[in-house]
Amino acid sequence: MAESLPRGPNILITGTPGTGKTTLGQELAVRNNLKYINIGEVAKENDLFEGFDEEYQCPLMDEDRVIDELEDTMVEGGNVVDYHGCEFFPERWFHLVIVLRTDNSILYERLEKRGYSGKKLQDNIQCEIFRTILDEAIESYKENIVQELQSNTPEDMEENLEKISTWLNQLTAS
Ligand code: ADP
Ligand code: MN
Repeated sequence: MAESLPRGPNILITGTPGTGKTTLGQELAVRNNLKYINIGEVAKENDLFEGFDEEYQCPLMDEDRVIDELEDTMVEGGNVVDYHGCEFFPERWFHLVIVLRTDNSILYERLEKRGYSGKKLQDNIQCEIFRTILDEAIESYKENIVQELQSNTPEDMEENLEKISTWLNQLTAS
């Protein structure tokens, strides 16, 4: 299949679990009339899994089939994509890659509240400490489209929504 370029802007919201991707992504979509896409939900709804992760006791997402499932929608443009990883998506899909960051103590509380404990909790905190997702984003996309944003407080979220809307307007104007 030919690799088409999107006809409108697509934004990826990525970051460690608990940094606020879904909260920000959904609101961003509502305010800017974009389509919100949660990758985990797409995989569940279409049963796009392959095998089982013994370590984390969860099904493994079939990344290739997720990409096939979303290709047409992404080429249309106007999407906000929410996922805690970023390297397996086609680079051409995204015009803006937002990496949310959260202070350890705040993230710890959010993940505990979500019911995470033990190794799962520790691994996610480490992922944030080692800025794993930020580095993944910088390695996977052009540096000038990757934006690191703090996501600790409701004020941060409001600021982030405004910043991203401004960038979005610049994208559609050019
Ligand atoms: P993710 O989708 O990255 O796992 P969520 O959007 O589910 O994260 O947010 C995790 C928790 O943190 C939720 O309880 C949410 O209300 C809260 N939260 C998200 N963003 C912020 C923020 N900027 N300030 C305060 N709390 C936030
Ligand atoms: Mn989420």
